[in-house]
Amino acid sequence: MASGLLSGKRGIVFGIANNKSLAWACAQACAAEGASLVFNFLGAAQEKRLNELMTEIPGGKAKNCDLGKDDELEEFFKWVRAEWDSIDFVIHAVAYTDKECLKEPFVNTSRQQFLSTMDISAFTLVAAAKHAAPLMRNGGSIISMSYYGAEKVVPNYNVMGVAKAALEACTRYLAEDLGPQGIRVNTISAGPIRTLSASAIPGLRNMLDYSQKFSPLRRNITGEDVARSALFLLSDLGSGVTGENLHVDCGYHAMGMFREGTAPANEAH
Ligand code: NAD
Repeated sequence: MASGLLSGKRGIVFGIANNKSLAWACAQACAAEGASLVFNFLGAAQEKRLNELMTEIPGGKAKNCDLGKDDELEEFFKWVRAEWDSIDFVIHAVAYTDKECLKEPFVNTSRQQFLSTMDISAFTLVAAAKHAAPLMRNGGSIISMSYYGAEKVVPNYNVMGVAKAALEACTRYLAEDLGPQGIRVNTISAGPIRTLSASAIPGLRNMLDYSQKFSPLRRNITGEDVARSALFLLSDLGSGVTGENLHVDCGYHAMGMFREGTAPANEAH
């Protein structure tokens, strides 16, 4: 039940591809808690889908922005400044890699695949924070989305894991830089969930099975789980939390060993 946690707050949401996107779950929760929102989209097909979704978001507006392009990012924030004189939060739920390099062993990642993954999946947080910070006149909160593959090897996650490790490190450095302005920067490490991007990972089914079986909560996360934790970090409830990587994974990261009797059949001995 909504209680106006973000009443009067204004936020930017980057990364809605469709109604399965983590960014969309977060946007719905933020709007329900009273936030005003603007969005980016990437290309005409996404614009059409977002326009349909935005009918659920009172006053929602959107503009094309490829976060990998400095001029588009500049134009996007110019547009935001024309709408609003200040903002309170940014949700960064953006990632990209050439899916071919998720099929190969990590060692085969090319320079181009490595750099483009790092650029879109990690550096864009830094670039967005640089533009957003001057608009956060009363302090603010910035969140992005990571995954456990940043901390431990997850088969097939490959260069995305390396980029997520960079994203989590960027979060800590941004927290230190922007802290004096009252801007908090945090990462949510979400458990696996079937979205457009996640579907590109070979073995997603296996990831989902593992996390359901071995998580302390014995289930997979939902978009709502992520959205509720996002609300905590974006609202004053998280006022003392910055530089944090909050696991929203039903506890999977806390496990050091399979539970007795749950090892996959081909690994049991
Ligand atoms: P999604 O496909 O719905 O969202 C990814 C978004 O990134 C898309 O909207 C896409 O347009 C956007 N994007 C990619 N390149 C971009 C660019 N150059 N400029 C602007 N936008 C760009 O998938 P999702 O699972 O909701 O992903 C959101 C975030 O959550 C990502 O950072 C992802 O790595 C992370 N995450 C996902 C899972 C999962 O299992 N789904 C788990 C942990 C973390």
